Amino acid sequence: MLGLGIDIGTSGVRTAVIDPSGTLVSDARAPHRPGAATGDADAWWGGVSDCLRAQVKALRQIGLDPHDIVHASIDGTSGTMVLVDEDIRPIGLGLLYNSSGFHEGAEQIARLAPEGHITRGSSSALARYLTLLTSDQADRARYLLHQADFILARLTRAPGHSDDNNALKLGFDPETLSWPAWFERLAIPLEQLPKVHRCGEAVAPIAGEVAQDFGLSPDLIMHAGTTDSIAAFLASGATTQGEGVTSLGTTLAIKLLSDIRVDSVAHGLYSHRLGSSWLVGGASNTGGGALLRHFDPDQMSTLSEAIDASEISPYDYHPLPAVGERFPINDPNLAPRDTPRPASDAAFLHGLLESIARIEGQCYGLIKDLGGPPVSRVLTAGGGAENDVWTAIRARVLGVPVETSPRAEAAIGAAMLAMGLTAATQS
Ligand code: ADP
Repeated sequence: MLGLGIDIGTSGVRTAVIDPSGTLVSDARAPHRPGAATGDADAWWGGVSDCLRAQVKALRQIGLDPHDIVHASIDGTSGTMVLVDEDIRPIGLGLLYNSSGFHEGAEQIARLAPEGHITRGSSSALARYLTLLTSDQADRARYLLHQADFILARLTRAPGHSDDNNALKLGFDPETLSWPAWFERLAIPLEQLPKVHRCGEAVAPIAGEVAQDFGLSPDLIMHAGTTDSIAAFLASGATTQGEGVTSLGTTLAIKLLSDIRVDSVAHGLYSHRLGSSWLVGGASNTGGGALLRHFDPDQMSTLSEAIDASEISPYDYHPLPAVGERFPINDPNLAPRDTPRPASDAAFLHGLLESIARIEGQCYGLIKDLGGPPVSRVLTAGGGAENDVWTAIRARVLGVPVETSPRAEAAIGAAMLAMGLTAATQS
């Protein structure tokens, strides 16, 4: 018995196949087809098809039978969506997770949605949907599908299914398992909205002809998927309340497993449901992007060797790549604070790294202040996680173990989700 995860990321498509213990047995990748980044959903499917074929071939090459894959799920970029017709053909271009400026939709929503609701704002997923509905051929639309839902629909030939992680930003309430009542007063055809499943729940088997085409088993069950960043969290293997994952890339994004739902729209802090737990996540603008204003990655590596991680830096900064911060301080006018700069570059970098570690601590601290659990262990991924000196500084500042995540491939998280190996399916 094997599990398959399909990850549609920003840079391409990846698949991973795991065994029942969660061990990776094979993986594959394929670049996006042209048009994927401009919302051509057929290109998303093309990339997934290429990757699935490569995956089946890779399994055969190591003597494994692709027919042994019996569970699969998909993660896609959060908030990317497309309208399709009855036959799952895209109606025009979809809109990507990073598209924004949907002011008309945002105004409609602002008249109905409660203050602070996740759907408010001109870059909200719901405003994006309202914009899709204004396109020429929108009257032919039958379903609204997120990127992962679209691939699920093409694989099962049963359109109209989604998961509560992807649907959260569209407005779905994961607690009451329903769309807000005020949706009825919004200019949307409610029948277009997908049926929302708990992430990881079995949805439907792969369609017979699709299974045959890819060389997969017709008994393969497709499970409700999730978003790319949650899949990466699941891949880290964190399953206990209080365990956090910090992604230290261009920005600093944190996710914490919690028994309690914690939301703070002002801070961009949201809880996704994972089985009987919640995954609380938010992002600060500090991180590697702010460091790049002062040093390039090679300088960071060399200078870090001269830093004693056990020493407390006297410098207190708030490094930012530009004006504006959301979390843990919600202030669009917050200016980067990175003075005074000591004469020694190593001392300056030490101050920057230690200050970012303090901000990370404040992020976890704010979740605790809002009723969540204290962080007990941090797994970490991204460019900054490669810096061992920084990891040691962070462990000292946070006062909890900080470990580099052994694997953060979203495709593995999606495979674990399908196999029931994550916090999403434990109660
Ligand atoms: P993203 O996926 O957000 O683009 P990555 O995970 O690839 O980011 O990480 C890139 C970031 O890692 C850069 O912003 C850079 O500042 C940071 N980085 C690279 N090398 C180091 C280092 N030795 N120490 C600390 N940060 C580093």
